[in-house]
Amino acid sequence: MMQNDVVVVGGGISGLSLAYYCVQAGMKTTLLEKTDAVGGSFASPAYSSDRKKFWMELGAHTCYSSYQNLLDIVEECGLKNSIIPRAKVPFTLMVDGKIKSIVSQLNIMELLVSVPNIFKLKKTGLSVSAYYSKIVGEKNYQEVIRHFFNAVPSQQTDDFPADMMFKSREKRKDMLKNYTFKNGMQSVARAISAKSGLNVFTTQDVNSILYKDGLYEIRSAGGGEYSAKTLVIATPSSVASMLLKDINPDISSHLGQLKSADVDSVGVIVRKENIKLKPVAAIISPNDVFFSVVSRDTVPDENYRGFVFHFKPGLDEKTKRSRITEVLGVGFSKIEHTESKFNTVPTLRMGHHEWLEKNDALLKGKKNLLLTGNYFGGMAIEDCVSRSKSEFARLKG
Ligand SMILES: Cc1cc2nc3c(=O)[nH]c(=O)nc-3n(C[C@H](O)[C@H](O)[C@H](O)COP(=O)(O)OP(=O)(O)OC[C@H]3O[C@@H](n4cnc5c(N)ncnc54)[C@H](O)[C@@H]3O)c2cc1C
Repeated sequence: MMQNDVVVVGGGISGLSLAYYCVQAGMKTTLLEKTDAVGGSFASPAYSSDRKKFWMELGAHTCYSSYQNLLDIVEECGLKNSIIPRAKVPFTLMVDGKIKSIVSQLNIMELLVSVPNIFKLKKTGLSVSAYYSKIVGEKNYQEVIRHFFNAVPSQQTDDFPADMMFKSREKRKDMLKNYTFKNGMQSVARAISAKSGLNVFTTQDVNSILYKDGLYEIRSAGGGEYSAKTLVIATPSSVASMLLKDINPDISSHLGQLKSADVDSVGVIVRKENIKLKPVAAIISPNDVFFSVVSRDTVPDENYRGFVFHFKPGLDEKTKRSRITEVLGVGFSKIEHTESKFNTVPTLRMGHHEWLEKNDALLKGKKNLLLTGNYFGGMAIEDCVSRSKSEFARLKG
């Protein structure tokens, strides 16, 4: 059995950032990832043709100057020069099959009357619908804005805590306001996993964890066996709950209270000359079979355009294919390449702050069991890295 100071289960940004902090502190650290590549929701598969590569984001696509903990890691991994701006192309709405600007769909009078509420209304204790209906007006919220919010975590967000959805954080003045990376978001995951001193094993579907004589014993479906003094679980909450079932039933059942949503993401690549659609950052189509279409037009390419449809789960291939061709206005034969991925995103409901408080109370005194992920303070990348940082501080404290 391979012995370690720390074993991290889950190779998304949450697990990778916590592994990074452990390696920096000189701990012998192993990270186990179920799939054949690290990144989780950082997924930027590249299509090669004519000896050129074109990547699409099947998950996260945008970082901000306020992602300070992420930026510290990015800089330390030597990726600062890979940071690139996103082209200014619009977020749009699809109404009756036509692309419209957001502003054109808003009731401006209602917006003007409502917007001053931003100075007196606090997000704390309010749901997304309660808060933003007051800020943009009830009708604007229902007919336009809520569809944009739903597109962020690909699910209904009316009952999300407003202060966990969009956070104001201190910005770094020397950074682009929003940006991505030359080779896509997954290049960040690859750079962290290549850190010297970090052992990374992919295709390790961890399915059993035991605790014996002060050591965690971690086993994967393929027969991998690892032991460590400190265990980090950085998987979706339902997996964390399953893995802790025998060794910590209280935390396991607390994690089991959380819900999540599956997103069926399908990316398609089309030659530029075969599509008429004007450049867009994203298309949101209210009450459609997808929550959003995220485009690669934010990083323009001379030959190709890419569009990732974040579909509601459970659709058959024919339905997805025909909606893709309708929205893009191209025949399926013009689609040069397709990529697919399932992502899991947390469903954060009102009351999540109380859930989190109880969770951290249950973890108190268990400094060798760390839990990180996108279901703590929020699902943005910086929320994940911040959680990893605070869990690492608990280990060292
Ligand atoms: C479509 C989409 C777009 C997004 N866009 C943005 C954005 O633009 N900006 C932003 O800030 N945030 C964005 N987010 C949110 C953010 O990207 C995610 O919340 C974050 O990347 C999640 O990281 P994570 O490590 O917590 O989870 P994940 O990325 O889900 O990683 C969990 C990992 O655990 C692995 N795993 C699961 N079970 C096991 C097991 N039994 N054994 C071993 N490994 C296991 C999984 O394979 C996965 O790799 C987006 C999310 C999605 C889905």
